[in-house]
Amino acid sequence: MIVVSVAVGLTAYAILNLDIDIHMKDVSAASPTEPLSDLDVYYPGTEALGPDEMRIVALGTGQPSPRPKQAAACWLVELGNGDKFLFDLGAGCHERIAAQKIPYDFMDKVFLSHLHVDHYGDLASFWLGGTVMNRLTPLRIWGPSGATPEFGTKYALDLMEKMYIWDVATRAGFVDFRGGVLEVHEFPYDGVNNVIYEENGVVIRSIPAIHAIDGAVSFILEWNGLKFVYGGDTFPNKWYVEYAKGADLAIHECFLPPTLMVTKQGFTPSEALMVASQAHSSPEQFGKVMSMVKPRIGVGYHFYNDFDTAPEVLERVRKTYDGPLALALDYMVFNVTKDDIRVRMSAIDEEVWPSPALKEKNPPDDSKMIPFSDFTKSGALPMLEVVQPIFDEVNEKYGTEVEPTWK
Ligand SMILES: [Zn+2]
Ligand SMILES: [Zn+2]
Repeated sequence: MIVVSVAVGLTAYAILNLDIDIHMKDVSAASPTEPLSDLDVYYPGTEALGPDEMRIVALGTGQPSPRPKQAAACWLVELGNGDKFLFDLGAGCHERIAAQKIPYDFMDKVFLSHLHVDHYGDLASFWLGGTVMNRLTPLRIWGPSGATPEFGTKYALDLMEKMYIWDVATRAGFVDFRGGVLEVHEFPYDGVNNVIYEENGVVIRSIPAIHAIDGAVSFILEWNGLKFVYGGDTFPNKWYVEYAKGADLAIHECFLPPTLMVTKQGFTPSEALMVASQAHSSPEQFGKVMSMVKPRIGVGYHFYNDFDTAPEVLERVRKTYDGPLALALDYMVFNVTKDDIRVRMSAIDEEVWPSPALKEKNPPDDSKMIPFSDFTKSGALPMLEVVQPIFDEVNEKYGTEVEPTWK
């Protein structure tokens, strides 16, 4: 077998300086039947993570409005020690999370960069959907304060709990509801490189970001000598440039160029300039930041990444940055060790179901069951001749003695 190592670009969208081994076999032999050893594709749920390895999966990379190809902001970080972290839960990302085949119990730590809907629009779905998808632990959420209390994460999530009071009331009497508990950790938005999380050898710090109004941040995760930086939305800022230095993988927003926002999205020129280059970072600004940070690989996201936008975005980034780069798409996967950074796309199983719980469930709390009014009860059609056999079948199969409520 001859092993040839070549440097190639992964796709038109990700321009990388990574080596890929090409295994050249003797084709004169009979047609091989064994599986290929390495397809250069990531299949969620099929690969062990090395004890010193970090895997980062892009689960939302597009602009604020989600579309089939790209959800809004969300990134999953998995560590070789088993820890998993979600950075932002933007609109549309929940189904991408489900595609990872990770039981919900193990996705109970969420870090919010700011309170724009494209960064936490799927939080309620993930929180409450998770309670029937077998998350049996509280959902822990870290997010920044605001300039005043009502602009902070705690206030927003208190209101979210109130907004979903009907939903919460329906679940507690039916399923083990431990996963419905929210544990909110608000930290100062103006903390500079302050530790906001430290457990199990993992340290996460926050740095301020400059975006829209006070109350946006970016995160730095360090573990096992590896450094991961997740930039939420931001105008280029001195904190990112200073504290992201030395990153193995540095994510930073890279918005669409204003010209494309005018031609493809109907923004006026002044709107496009203000949004793309003052509230956000345009490709040239993203590139300049990466040139100052010099990560092992810089990752740009937060633009609609297509055949007709990627070339222009890349050309503009390359005006200011010539280092290792990936322009992210949903389901792009990064395996990071001290020796190597491997970038692939995932193959997603559209038929995937949420993974079953691994912990033992408690019985539902009957006292939490809220009774129907007499009015609603008066409309029920018990159909016992249909329902009783269903109960009998299950009771017989599992040795239970559950009775229908409606009789
Ligand atoms: Zn934003
Ligand atoms: Zn955003």
